[in-house]
Amino acid sequence: TEEALRQAQKMEAVGQLTGGIAHDFNNLLTGVIGSLDMMQRKIARGEMDKIERYATTAMTAANRAAALTHRLLAFSRRQPLDPKPVNANRLVSGMEELLRRTLGEAIRLEIVTAGGLWQTRCDPHQLESAILNLAINARDAMPTGGHLTIETCNAHLDTAYAAKSRDVHPGQYVCICVTDTGSGMAPDVIAKAFEPFFTTKPIGQGTGLGLSMIYGFARQSEGYAKIYSELGKGTTVKLYLPRYHGEGEEADLVVAGLADERR
Ligand code: ADP
Repeated sequence: TEEALRQAQKMEAVGQLTGGIAHDFNNLLTGVIGSLDMMQRKIARGEMDKIERYATTAMTAANRAAALTHRLLAFSRRQPLDPKPVNANRLVSGMEELLRRTLGEAIRLEIVTAGGLWQTRCDPHQLESAILNLAINARDAMPTGGHLTIETCNAHLDTAYAAKSRDVHPGQYVCICVTDTGSGMAPDVIAKAFEPFFTTKPIGQGTGLGLSMIYGFARQSEGYAKIYSELGKGTTVKLYLPRYHGEGEEADLVVAGLADERR
């Protein structure tokens, strides 16, 4: 039957996927083992001054492997959303320190929070994770440095706008724009970027899950996400989350918990 065929196709996709991830993971593990092996040799020869860089290499590869499994788990679990009223200005400002550490010294971070910003309602933990993922993508797109701007604003999307964009409902949204001055994306990359497991990064460095998770999160929150990008100029990802009028306790910041999970 058609259902059985769909199921078989799904299983095939899952097989390819897990094979690909196992492959990536194995490559990273090879890097860790190789570096540890070199460290042992240096220690045996008493060349203690040489072990630092192998420790750094091992640490980098191990962190990437951890990030890979973390993202995979988050994706397969599709962590249930726990929506709460959220003040996006406060949430973004609360991430400043974590973002600075993630971006490094060569990237200038600017956070621009709109006055009179509406409240939204979404899972604050997932929103933080989305913003951090966008910052990591931006960092990867600016290997020699640049600017990252995170800006909040109120947005009215009218029916005319909604009519020409897939998945968009007209209404009032809180918008979070993440703009980098990085490599930018070609039109065919933009078209595929939200697909799960689409990546242009080398094996072991990209899972292709970041943007698809962000898109899924936005859709589940009854908002949406859109990419504007030009090769050689940079990229803006806009996250639209619905305005929330209701009452309720605002979410506490969850930054600390997140910082532990990510590099
Ligand atoms: P990953 O980062 O693991 O590759 P994503 O789903 O986050 O997975 O991104 C998919 C692809 O979209 C990336 O491999 C990259 O080609 C492109 N991309 C995402 N964000 C940016 C950005 N800020 N600048 C340039 N390209 C980007």
